[in-house]
Amino acid sequence: MSQHTHSFQAEVAQLLHLVTHSLYSNPEIFLRELVSNASDACDKLRFAALGDASLYGDQPNLEVRLSFDAAAKTLTITDTGIGMSEQEAIDHLGTIAKSGTKAFMEQLSGDQKSDAQLIGQFGVGFYSGFIVADKITVESRRAGLSEAQGVRWTSTGTGDFVTETITRTQRGTSVTLHLREDQQEFLNAWKLKQLVSKYSDHISLPILMEKEEWKEGANEGEPGGMVKTGEWETVNKASALWTRAKKDISAEQYREFYKSISHDHEDPLAWAHNRVEGNSEYTQLLYIPAKAPFDLYTRDKHAGVKLYVKRVFIMDDAEALLPQYLRFVKGVIDSADLPLNVSRELLQESRDVRLIRDGSVKRVLSMLEDLARHDKHDAAADADGNADNVTDVVSEEDKAKEGKYTRFYAEFGPVLKEGLGEDFANRERIAKLLRFASTTSDAPTVGFADYKARMKEGQEAIYYITADTLAAAKNSPQLEVFKKKGIEVLLMTDRVDEWALNYLQDFDGTPLQSVAKGAVDLGKLQDEDEKKATEEAAEAFKPLLAKLKEALKDKAEDVRVTARLVDSPACLVVQDGDMSSQLARMLKQAGQ
Ligand code: ADP
Ligand code: MG
Repeated sequence: MSQHTHSFQAEVAQLLHLVTHSLYSNPEIFLRELVSNASDACDKLRFAALGDASLYGDQPNLEVRLSFDAAAKTLTITDTGIGMSEQEAIDHLGTIAKSGTKAFMEQLSGDQKSDAQLIGQFGVGFYSGFIVADKITVESRRAGLSEAQGVRWTSTGTGDFVTETITRTQRGTSVTLHLREDQQEFLNAWKLKQLVSKYSDHISLPILMEKEEWKEGANEGEPGGMVKTGEWETVNKASALWTRAKKDISAEQYREFYKSISHDHEDPLAWAHNRVEGNSEYTQLLYIPAKAPFDLYTRDKHAGVKLYVKRVFIMDDAEALLPQYLRFVKGVIDSADLPLNVSRELLQESRDVRLIRDGSVKRVLSMLEDLARHDKHDAAADADGNADNVTDVVSEEDKAKEGKYTRFYAEFGPVLKEGLGEDFANRERIAKLLRFASTTSDAPTVGFADYKARMKEGQEAIYYITADTLAAAKNSPQLEVFKKKGIEVLLMTDRVDEWALNYLQDFDGTPLQSVAKGAVDLGKLQDEDEKKATEEAAEAFKPLLAKLKEALKDKAEDVRVTARLVDSPACLVVQDGDMSSQLARMLKQAGQ
């Protein structure tokens, strides 16, 4: 039989070096990664078989088996999933395949110790096996291929791997780990069951292990031991987490599930799990992450919601299920109404999807509102009438929410703002969730509602200024008169602010007014004397203004006397309705 030696892709070699030369804080995660691959492989087969039922052959069961051989020091994970052809084994196990591992590589710091810790939390997919094994053998047969078209893949986790064609009677994949000397604790049924319930309970397939029973020593005085019985039992719950009743799911299980679907190693900030009945029937389990992924702003933005139809996995990244501005949300939606053969194109037009999408947006916004309400420093929630009754007792649950909205906003605030332009129907709710720095707060904690609650007697607009940095905003001469009169001005420094605010003319009936536009009308805030002084000055300086206008005729449209300055002699403003200078600069940078 001919063997072929292949080199790992450079990135894989680099990763394997890290995996095999570091200390591991959490070696057991290899099992989570390999079981999740086995489960993915079964999902893929179930999906492919929707179009071609013959792929099941004579083995209709989809399952995962865990077994070990104490004498040989091996642990094997076997699935009846889609399997791999030889070429697929070369491609998928020799190069960095997908999201999970890539996300990990993105976060590497170069410091071996902290990177090793990261592996423990994160997992590096298939390669996690080398944390505990010094050799891995994979045997596989792709569904639909003949027995003679099996493949064996072997590697010791150094520079290269070997493949050869084998005969394999069974469809699917077996991954055999030859455990390192110091990792023999995994040759233990009790230990393995414990890990399955910790990491893989939510997997919807049965995970089977061979039953063992106690056997006395054959002769008097010989020690007894556990022996295998040849009978297999299911050791996980084997029902998808979201299909279970809320009361049967612990917070720990919700968190583990989040980590398994998100490739995030941090706990989520919040989640919502609901069964929706009515016009459209579906289950949603949606999470708000605590940290933005590295690719939140890249062009091909990925949505994080997985679509299932009647518990059958259909697709990752179903972007039709949530609008772009909620692309940070992770989770699962399981529809009872959509056809199993639904395509991305069909999703875009489906009425059911529209209902799911509307329902999911509402759910996410209420989660955020709930976090905002309990964010301690958040006066906005108090002001809009949703506040809890003031009591001395704060429930543990509410206490746990403190500070979470601030964390959320620091990570995802700019993305949420995109919603002003994208989601007309929910604009008011989104606007309430926004927070800004202001002339009274350097930290972005001021909501429009806080601002309104503090408005001066006679003040008729919400004033804001946009700038590149907080320092530039704070020191703008356009703020002078507002400072003098003690009027708060919101300071907007996100790149998206200017664009987003175009879509928000007013908040709760109060117009928004940029202090950098036109002749700011302070309305009732300007007293009679000031108005008169300005008018007199305008009269007195008429000849000078005319000269200035003539001198600047290519550069300025108008030159006028203003009451908005206190210390500075002059400032530039744009016409009402024109682009602000900030937006103009942004477009120029973007090459327009
Ligand atoms: P990921 O699961 O994020 O794609 P992994 O490193 O865990 O990355 O796995 C790499 C690839 O190897 C998978 O995408 C899949 O194509 C293939 N693979 C791994 N395990 C199996 C398996 N048990 N059956 C079929 N294919 C597998
Ligand atoms: Mg994987």
